[in-house]
Amino acid sequence: MRRTLSFIYEALHARYGELRWWPARTPYEVMVGAVLTQNTAWVNVEKAIANFGERLSPEAVAEAGIAELAETIRPAGFFNQKAAYLKELTAWYARYGYDAPSVQREPLAKLRAELLSTKGIGRETADSVLLYAFGFPTFVVDAYTVRLCDRYPIEAGKGYEAVKACFEGNVERSVGVYNNFHALIVANAKAHCRKRPVCGGCPVAEACGRRGV
Ligand code: SF4
Repeated sequence: MRRTLSFIYEALHARYGELRWWPARTPYEVMVGAVLTQNTAWVNVEKAIANFGERLSPEAVAEAGIAELAETIRPAGFFNQKAAYLKELTAWYARYGYDAPSVQREPLAKLRAELLSTKGIGRETADSVLLYAFGFPTFVVDAYTVRLCDRYPIEAGKGYEAVKACFEGNVERSVGVYNNFHALIVANAKAHCRKRPVCGGCPVAEACGRRGV
């Protein structure tokens, strides 16, 4: 498994390089993006983020009315629901005084448990926040990761926690590697490993079994 994941990482890295996610200026912007990207394309998240203008701060979101917030994020879809989730996530951040270093001083497991008990924050969102906003070594699993596992195949087990444990147990425990590996999987899923895969030219095609393709 270690060799398989190492091969995949190196092959994707050789093709796409260091992608340095997440495209955001502040930890809070990552948090907002992680909620807004649920069930929508990133282009819609960008429109919603742009709508905030100078109001993309935890203080401003905490003060905003729920209807106003929903209107701001309308392009991201499910805007009433996501406005409520943003309020919840912002309330969580308030426990740490909206201060990233205060979050970073806490144990990863404690923070992950807190986030998972926050309304609207599932595993993928929690891990995205912890990895990309606060720099914790926690691997993000998404639908693209599962698709790659199914097709290649990578026998990572079933379910989010099993796949996460497989990657974390067989990849160098490094925020940089976790950051880039997830980004590389997404990049390849968009370029090649789509719903209808375009296997010609895929950087891992020589070793991929294309199960189910
Ligand atoms: S070879 Fe095809 S199925 Fe395998 S990872 Fe690449 S695009 Fe996906």
